[in-house]
Amino acid sequence: MEASILAICYLIGSVSFIIGLKMLSHPAKARRGNLVSAAGMGIAILATLLLYHPGGEALHNLIWIISAIIIGTIIGATAARRVKMTAMPEMVSMFNGMGGLCAALISIVELGRVANDHSDMHVLSILAGMVIGSVSFTGSMIAYGKLQGKIKDHAFKGQHLVNLFVLLLIVIIGAIIITSNGTFSALIFYSMLGLSVVYGILFVLPIGGADMPVVISLLNSFTGIATACAGFLYNNQVMLTGGILVGSAGAILTILMCKAMNRSLMNVLIGSFGSTGTGAVHSVTQQGSSKEISLGDAAMVMGYAQKVLIVPGYGLAVAQAQHVCNELGKLLQNNGVVVKYAIHPVAGRMPGHMNVLLAEADVPYDDLLELESANEEFGSTDVVLILGANDVVNPAALDDPSSPIYGMPILEVGKAKLVIVNKRSMRPGYAGIENELFFKPNTSMLFGDAKTVLHELVNLVKEL
Ligand code: NDP
Repeated sequence: MEASILAICYLIGSVSFIIGLKMLSHPAKARRGNLVSAAGMGIAILATLLLYHPGGEALHNLIWIISAIIIGTIIGATAARRVKMTAMPEMVSMFNGMGGLCAALISIVELGRVANDHSDMHVLSILAGMVIGSVSFTGSMIAYGKLQGKIKDHAFKGQHLVNLFVLLLIVIIGAIIITSNGTFSALIFYSMLGLSVVYGILFVLPIGGADMPVVISLLNSFTGIATACAGFLYNNQVMLTGGILVGSAGAILTILMCKAMNRSLMNVLIGSFGSTGTGAVHSVTQQGSSKEISLGDAAMVMGYAQKVLIVPGYGLAVAQAQHVCNELGKLLQNNGVVVKYAIHPVAGRMPGHMNVLLAEADVPYDDLLELESANEEFGSTDVVLILGANDVVNPAALDDPSSPIYGMPILEVGKAKLVIVNKRSMRPGYAGIENELFFKPNTSMLFGDAKTVLHELVNLVKEL
């Protein structure tokens, strides 16, 4: 009876994950979707604590388990409440890494069980969970450091060969363990663990610049797969479903990101695209000098334009200027100007960053244009207002084969009549390369913090 109720609770949990995931695909329903999935997870955890009786006995260590849940809940809720929007990608990387670590720890703890029950599938799940979980953990920690700007891209000659060699060693040790019928030594298992930890570091260290979004979603997918392995080990359907959903969603996002960057996954993994190796700034030959536009002139050209496209980037998130950006957009729309937002898939520091940022400010979803649609519209646009975006509008990606971002599709803002670039200085963006766009004849710089500049523009447009 209890087992049946437990199975029903797991079914409810699994279905709620699927419904929640579906709701996450639209900003208006995303918050509720999150709650639906969390409620499903709550039911599954409670049911496990009360109704899961391995070997006919109630769960031991309930005090430990409940204490860990309480501590984890407090840390998670405090971190999520306090985190600044700009630090969100780092938090996602950290949480993802913790998921990988949990899966790896489960495999290590379950190793003892192999001595009694050494079915090949169980051993395989333990090894896969341990390897993928450890790679996801150390890889996510390196990604966390890179997003914080504390870890630089590092590549050395022959690094890909070293990576392949480490991977090969992991596979060979795995094969030895599986074919040993449970007679392998703990040492060989832990050497496999050590190699996986090293592989996670070596694998992410050289990847940088414009490729980070792909790596982050790939690591996300790894954590899902590692969790699914743990679900298989415990024959726990809700863990299995959750892991498979995260694994497949991460894999789909990785493929979409690769498509958005015009790259194959293999190319990302072995190409070190975006990494300058030395961390040096890649210079472009400057085409003349840049010119500035005053706030008054910027307000005037936008206020009397027919169509304005706004390009948000990482700097808009840093300035927390999404609300005043929406205010300016609405003001212009009320004056009869067509205003749309051009969204690049890797703008910001996490997949979907700009969508989340603008949704937070209630920018209507219908006003957002994806890359292809935006590129079709720039030709008929009077003014493009770039707010803290840099790499995603850098024409070097189209016309400079020596550029580290060459091949990445960009927002082709140069086709518009006038381009206004708001940033604080001439400093480069994430990929560390200069931007030829700033020196084009139809580009004018509007220096200053995005929030301050937008407040001033709102006041000036009101006076028109
Ligand atoms: P960039 O990092 O290229 O440029 C952001 C610009 O914002 C900077 O040049 C900076 O210039 C400006 N800026 C910073 N603070 C402010 C402020 N307060 N007010 C106004 N401007 C400001 O951002 P993009 O969005 O164009 O490109 C994203 C980059 O990040 C890509 O290279 C992408 O590959 C990478 N990336 C993306 C991830 C994702 O998942 N989306 C994940 C990891 C990396 P200044 O200092 O002069 O103000």
